[in-house]
Amino acid sequence: MAYKTINPATNKLLKEYQQHDNAYADKALDTAHQLYKSSWSQDSVASRVHILHKLADLLDDNNEELARIASTEMGKLIGQSRAEVTLSANISRFYAMHAQTFLADVPYSSELGEAWVEHHPIGVIMAVEPWNFPYYQLMRVLAPNLAAGNPVMVKHASIVPHCAERFEQLVNEAGAPKGAYTNLFIDSSQVARLIDDERIQGVALTGSEKAGASIAAAAGKNVKKSTLELGGNDVFVVLDDSDLDQAITCAVQGRLSNAGQVCTAAKRFIVHEKIADSFINKLTSAFSSVKTGDPLDESSELGPLSSREALDGLAEQVNKAVSQGAKLAIGGEVIKGPGNFYQPTILLGISRDNDAYFEEFFGPVAQVYVVKSDEEAITLANDSHYGLGGAIFSQNIERAKKMASKIETGMVYINSPTDTSAELPFGGVKRSGYGRELSDLGIKEFVNQKLVVIA
Ligand code: NAP
Repeated sequence: MAYKTINPATNKLLKEYQQHDNAYADKALDTAHQLYKSSWSQDSVASRVHILHKLADLLDDNNEELARIASTEMGKLIGQSRAEVTLSANISRFYAMHAQTFLADVPYSSELGEAWVEHHPIGVIMAVEPWNFPYYQLMRVLAPNLAAGNPVMVKHASIVPHCAERFEQLVNEAGAPKGAYTNLFIDSSQVARLIDDERIQGVALTGSEKAGASIAAAAGKNVKKSTLELGGNDVFVVLDDSDLDQAITCAVQGRLSNAGQVCTAAKRFIVHEKIADSFINKLTSAFSSVKTGDPLDESSELGPLSSREALDGLAEQVNKAVSQGAKLAIGGEVIKGPGNFYQPTILLGISRDNDAYFEEFFGPVAQVYVVKSDEEAITLANDSHYGLGGAIFSQNIERAKKMASKIETGMVYINSPTDTSAELPFGGVKRSGYGRELSDLGIKEFVNQKLVVIA
């Protein structure tokens, strides 16, 4: 059975889940499609959003239980799991409050007559989601689509079935009709089979580039709209006029939060030569004092990686980087013991021909590059296949803003690590994918923006 709960702090198998067969998936799709064809989908946005209000309350009421499930299943520190549940509740409430405004008719002035654009649901959406934010990722797809009237079917990552199951239960408890949200324990070939079905009208994936390319190909073959939220190799630029202590605090948070397994984590630190030694010394010292431990222990500051495969993959990447010439300022070792713990690590001296230069390190590994000018920082930042987020630290906001405009990513934060909030668009360019989630932009991805003209 592919769907399993294995505690990454101990690698103990806690539960296995039965995979759903094609007959189950087809029946679920039929129910979702019938809902789309019913008055539930065609009625006003206002008639559906009470479910999102209720769901937000249920997430808040069950915060501790949900947080413990996530921490046990994918290793997130308990405090960060609680924050994720709160963020998910906020997203639900945000769309409950604003979806009607976002989907209101938009008038256009035209010489052809009175014109406006209406927003209508398009049908069942297939979502494929990753384990690193096991509730937030689901909510990013569910909340806007439920408000818009699109039923959602989800294949969650196979290492977080308990989160997937509990989330679906709460959506049902919030009053969602049968078919509005369905969790499916299915594999990649079953996802491709569903995408081929004409009742699926849109596909959303958050995950790796490889999975994205495969899902987008399946959607493209069927001429279906898709959105892809993929990997990132975000820069964290520290200019010579930055508040260094603030930058260090944010660097530790930006690189080590969720054990470094965040698409928008700070991965490439680009530091001005005038402050480079100081930055590297302070970051090394900060990393050396991080307390690694059980994610359920409130005093732990760094948890395990989500799986043994993730740990092995990261260790191999670091070893390869070093064998190709990178230097270790600190770390570089798997921590011995039953769980998937890896030392906070800093790599220096990465040349452009080192594979690490272009690779995403999905774990607590920072790469540090030293530059002489703002132009060199921008060139280095943009010398990446990815284009998701980025951060710039400077006390000169005009200087930072100029740099922000030149960085080729979907998001840039000034004097903060890349963050997320319900009201702000989230997404990238280049191989980080396309489309946006959250905010007013996210809810428009899977709606028919229908023009009506009275001549
Ligand atoms: P992954 O292997 O791509 O898994 C993500 C999801 O895709 C899982 O549900 C997985 O199922 C499924 N999947 C994998 N291959 C598939 C295929 N061919 N067809 C259908 N489904 C498929 O990603 P990961 O390695 O676990 O997650 C880390 C990656 O996601 C990183 O690159 C990270 O940067 C990116 N990410 C991006 C964002 C964003 O918003 N841009 C957010 C979070 C993570 P199984 O679990 O069953 O394999």
